[in-house]
Amino acid sequence: MDLLAFLKGHASCYIYNGEQIASQCQKLKREIPDFEFLYSIKTNPFSHIIQNISKEGFGADAASAEEVFLSLKNGIASEKIFYSAPGKTEEDIKICYGKCTIIADSISEIRHINAIAAKHKEIVKIGIRVNPNFSMKNECGTSSKFGIDIEQLLKVEDTLAEYSNIKITGIHIHIQSQILNFQILGKYYKNCFELAKKIHSMKNVNIEFINFGSGIGALYRETQDKPVDLEKLNNMISEIAEENCVVLNAKLLIETGRFITCNAGKYYTPIVDIKESLGQKYLIVENAMNGFMRPAIANLIYKAAGEILTGYEPLYTCQDEFSVQVLNESVEKEKVNIVGNLCTALDVIRENTEVNHAQIGDIIEITNAGSYAYSLSPLLFSSHKIPKQYYLYKDKIYEDELL
Ligand SMILES: *Cc1c(COP(=O)(O)O)cnc(C)c1O
Repeated sequence: MDLLAFLKGHASCYIYNGEQIASQCQKLKREIPDFEFLYSIKTNPFSHIIQNISKEGFGADAASAEEVFLSLKNGIASEKIFYSAPGKTEEDIKICYGKCTIIADSISEIRHINAIAAKHKEIVKIGIRVNPNFSMKNECGTSSKFGIDIEQLLKVEDTLAEYSNIKITGIHIHIQSQILNFQILGKYYKNCFELAKKIHSMKNVNIEFINFGSGIGALYRETQDKPVDLEKLNNMISEIAEENCVVLNAKLLIETGRFITCNAGKYYTPIVDIKESLGQKYLIVENAMNGFMRPAIANLIYKAAGEILTGYEPLYTCQDEFSVQVLNESVEKEKVNIVGNLCTALDVIRENTEVNHAQIGDIIEITNAGSYAYSLSPLLFSSHKIPKQYYLYKDKIYEDELL
């Protein structure tokens, strides 16, 4: 198909490449064969993407009741859906009961789940999100709104054992995203496994799954960064799988979002005006910050900090986390500011950047728009028409089915 012709008629829009998404799923399965994978729906909840990862055998990491329903609707079996988020309401728990494994995020959530299971006259298996006593980088924990501190969990062992309508069969840990160093990840997974063994020895606990959370990073900058060495990571963590066979025989789960979708998505938007001011040239595009917010945030953070910062996930990963080009055949280059048409100066895609000499109507392409992009952008700001989403698979374009 003629992509440029399609874009001239349909941008601003996101296009997600289905084959690339499938190939990332397959890479994880091939390189880390002893673990199973959950796709973090909040990364990109586009229906075709969930259907695709479901076909690859992935389960779901759902961060809300609605994400549990989205997972079910798009083909993921309830046994493979894990619902983990802080602040679940009793209503959330009630409507998701029986449709997924609920990961309790606090002692009061455990109480609510126990009460609902009692009404059903059942003993329900649940997981617990644990705030561990280690981080990715060192061996001490930090205060967190997520999960239950491990020290606290051990202290309430007897109370938990009194809840007769629940059985704790798994734990969930997640502390940091976007790690590219396999040694840090490997050490982290080992720490998680040790923690699981400790929790397994508590009363009313029988560990059947360990959800190690996410951490495996995506490659945002091809020239500066290297992808995670999955082979070396697997060499490190295959010991966990071996020991697991002997001591727990639990399901080993890794969550992943951006690794699957980040590079597979591109954002396209047309130039609607070109102007100059005090010697600088401006390409004005549609739906900049209000279609894809991350570039504006990257620009803001860089300007405010005056230095390169990392770690404002998932709003911002690093400087130059995407690349921009003008899609035309021009050999002539020019320095421009690419900005949006909103009535705020924050609405910037990239300042002082060299691109092909552009004309009104040309399309701008932004890479790495597959994760934390559409759903994380202020689409309603200024009441513009919102960008569409499309799914490209085997040279065919599929429409958005969500809106
Ligand atoms: C957002 C999130 C993820 C996904 O993180 P990525 O860095 O995109 O892989 C995984 N687990 C939890 C608990 C999350 O909140």
